[in-house]
Amino acid sequence: MDDGLTAELHQTRPLWQRLMTEAITRPADLLAALDLDPALPALDAERLRDFPIRVPRGFVARMRPGDPEDPLFLQVWPSVREADVVPGFTTDAVGDLDKLKGGGLIHKYAGRALAITTGACAINCRYCFRRHFPYGDALASRGHWRATLAQLDADHSIEEVILSGGDPLTLIDDKLAELVTELDARPWIRRLRLHTRVPVVLPERVDAGLLRWLQATRLQKVVVLHINHANEIDDAVAAASARLRAAGATVLNQAVLLRGINDSADAQARLSERCFAAGVLPYYLFVLDRVAGAAHFDVSESQAQALMQALAARLPGYLVPRLVREIAGQPSKTSLPW
Ligand SMILES: *Cc1c(COP(=O)(O)O)cnc(C)c1O
Ligand code: SF4
Repeated sequence: MDDGLTAELHQTRPLWQRLMTEAITRPADLLAALDLDPALPALDAERLRDFPIRVPRGFVARMRPGDPEDPLFLQVWPSVREADVVPGFTTDAVGDLDKLKGGGLIHKYAGRALAITTGACAINCRYCFRRHFPYGDALASRGHWRATLAQLDADHSIEEVILSGGDPLTLIDDKLAELVTELDARPWIRRLRLHTRVPVVLPERVDAGLLRWLQATRLQKVVVLHINHANEIDDAVAAASARLRAAGATVLNQAVLLRGINDSADAQARLSERCFAAGVLPYYLFVLDRVAGAAHFDVSESQAQALMQALAARLPGYLVPRLVREIAGQPSKTSLPW
């Protein structure tokens, strides 16, 4: 191919970046896209400014038009109930602020550390426990990852680096490839993990540019997706998952138990089955972190336990996720007995 043309192609923005900028960011636009009542009450504009609505159009296309109870719609719709003040629901629900070192690395658990790579996400999930996170102070991707790498060099017990955020796959490939090359050069690091919802809400992100650096690393790769409902998985998501696996990644799912969205054994069974059909194994089912503004999504622990018993009675063991809660100060996620 002619060199000029190659250079030109290289400079074209990847499709996924354009799709990110075309995401719906106004409540009225979401209601219009779904043929919903334009008068559906929404959180006031001032509160919405702190945590705006954001949802890629491809994800909206998986919602049922005309249904204000659609399980995907409810995950992104800014309900007036976010303004409720509920005792026990705070702005640092999982105690991460205490653990954050310079360089955006959170080292809470043995052998693995989590890097806050960016504050950006492709979608804003209304129950998110990071919605109040002061990202400005603590991004690992700053300055060519220098502070993060310095921390890894100072502690060789960290054998697994988890890229989280925000969502690490909102970063451009050059930036991610730069980090992975640095990790590759550190022989005590064995595994690279991505915590990401992007392949679900924007499967176009799993493109040649991403697969290039993912395939090239010597590290073992784990991609932990975040899917809460079977309807989130369409053919494009299944194909994105297949590309990740073909690049050598183990693909897992973590979900959050959400009232009115996936809080039945039926919904969870369908989620596990659909995940497995797409080559994704269930990993964790989190009970909600008690974050301010999300109390209306909360499911009681006793209800969660009853749900798990019903789920385990109808699925093979490998399709039953572990029910966990994140408790500040604990050496791992805490399994809830059922
Ligand atoms: C959840 C989490 C992990 C990963 O825990 P696993 O049980 O290995 O999935 C690692 N570090 C931090 C800070 C976490 O919050
Ligand atoms: S994609 Fe993840 S980090 Fe981003 S808003 Fe949703 S739950 Fe939170």
